[in-house]
Amino acid sequence: MGFKTQEEYLAYKQMVSDFLWKEVEPLVPKMDEEDHIPRELLFPRFRELGLFRLIIPEEYGGLGLTTAQYLPFIAEMSKVSGAVRALIHVHLTAARAIAFYGREEQKKAILPKMAKGESSLAFCITEANSGSGLDCKTAAVKQGDHYVLNGEKHLITNADFTDLFMVACYTGPRDLGKKAMSALIVESGAPGFTIEPMPHLLGCKGLGHGILTFKNCIVPAKNVVGEEGLGLDVFLGELEVSRVYVAASSLGTAMRALDESVKYAKKRITFGKAIAQRESIRMLLADMAMDIYGLRLMLEDVARKIDEGKPCALEASIVKSHGLETVCRVTDKAMQVLGGRSYLVSWPIERLFRDGRLNVLEEGTPSIQKLVTARALLSGDSPCTSPW
Ligand SMILES: Cc1cc2nc3c(=O)[nH]c(=O)nc-3n(C[C@H](O)[C@H](O)[C@H](O)COP(=O)(O)OP(=O)(O)OC[C@H]3O[C@@H](n4cnc5c(N)ncnc54)[C@H](O)[C@@H]3O)c2cc1C
Repeated sequence: MGFKTQEEYLAYKQMVSDFLWKEVEPLVPKMDEEDHIPRELLFPRFRELGLFRLIIPEEYGGLGLTTAQYLPFIAEMSKVSGAVRALIHVHLTAARAIAFYGREEQKKAILPKMAKGESSLAFCITEANSGSGLDCKTAAVKQGDHYVLNGEKHLITNADFTDLFMVACYTGPRDLGKKAMSALIVESGAPGFTIEPMPHLLGCKGLGHGILTFKNCIVPAKNVVGEEGLGLDVFLGELEVSRVYVAASSLGTAMRALDESVKYAKKRITFGKAIAQRESIRMLLADMAMDIYGLRLMLEDVARKIDEGKPCALEASIVKSHGLETVCRVTDKAMQVLGGRSYLVSWPIERLFRDGRLNVLEEGTPSIQKLVTARALLSGDSPCTSPW
């Protein structure tokens, strides 16, 4: 890890938190209204503060944070801006994929630039007309020293500014299944590659998305991540860890919603009493806290397992599910606590409500999480591996 002592780590975390609350938070209403992240203003500060390099290994210019150290950053960003969280999250999840699955020369070429925030990589699986994974329609054919790539992807985060795109595609006969899929890095401006912006989002305003179209797009053969046939491992392996990051985002959004609810409940007087003194409001606050505490403990457990190198597909899908349910329940309840004001854009609750809904869909829908959980359980896995 990039910090010699826990004190150094905590001081750094505090510095980033101060930046988020003092410099980003005041911009959020405008970012939301204009649906625009002022990158020219924020990116230089993200670079100075090291946000683009949090989990990139130190040998490639990163800070090398462990999962347990990284999750609080995701949560803090989510309290302030879901869009900033998602932007950094995608950048770092994609970087992690290169660190784990890339060849040494790829790591050396890509990661230091990503760590400096000079380059970014998008994560491209989803297609409009097929399911994610083996159902993928995008395919590349190798011709000498390059691939010819055809297909399309949509809903690709950061497509509005990123220079590199890691694309899931078939590079071999479909009947070989997983072994025929690869991850190809396509550079913006590659011949035959076009990017089209997508409609505005419900929440996380300012985050950019694109439809990517590859028409006989030429991709150098050296751009295959790791080696041919690793594609599904790269994407599904990273999705597993990324589900935990999404759950940490749910935690941050829910924590902010609870903080705002407690503050409001103490201040708002009706019929001569603060609403915090009403049983019905207390029940709401207690339910919110129960969800949040459970999620926090789950995250600590799964982060430890990831950092110990243990497989955690089951835990990752459980924590993702609990996270999305928590963020939805807690923001719903926050709307009840804040009453009519929760519906006004001048209060943060409606934004938290909208931002949190992305966590439902990211890295797989609720039913997909439950399918992954059930599959792992039925094959003998258990969330409680240590003796009780
Ligand atoms: C803001 C935003 C950012 C995103 N960023 C990215 C990104 O950067 N990169 C990327 O690749 N993707 C990205 N996505 C896509 C996201 O991961 C998918 O939207 C999500 O995984 C759901 O897939 P889908 O949209 O294809 O849903 P669909 O497949 O259309 O699913 C619709 C419903 O059918 C269910 N369903 C589908 N197939 C099955 C099945 N086989 N069995 C049972 N139920 C099924 C689903 O669970 C869901 O309930 C983003 C999405 C959003 C909204």
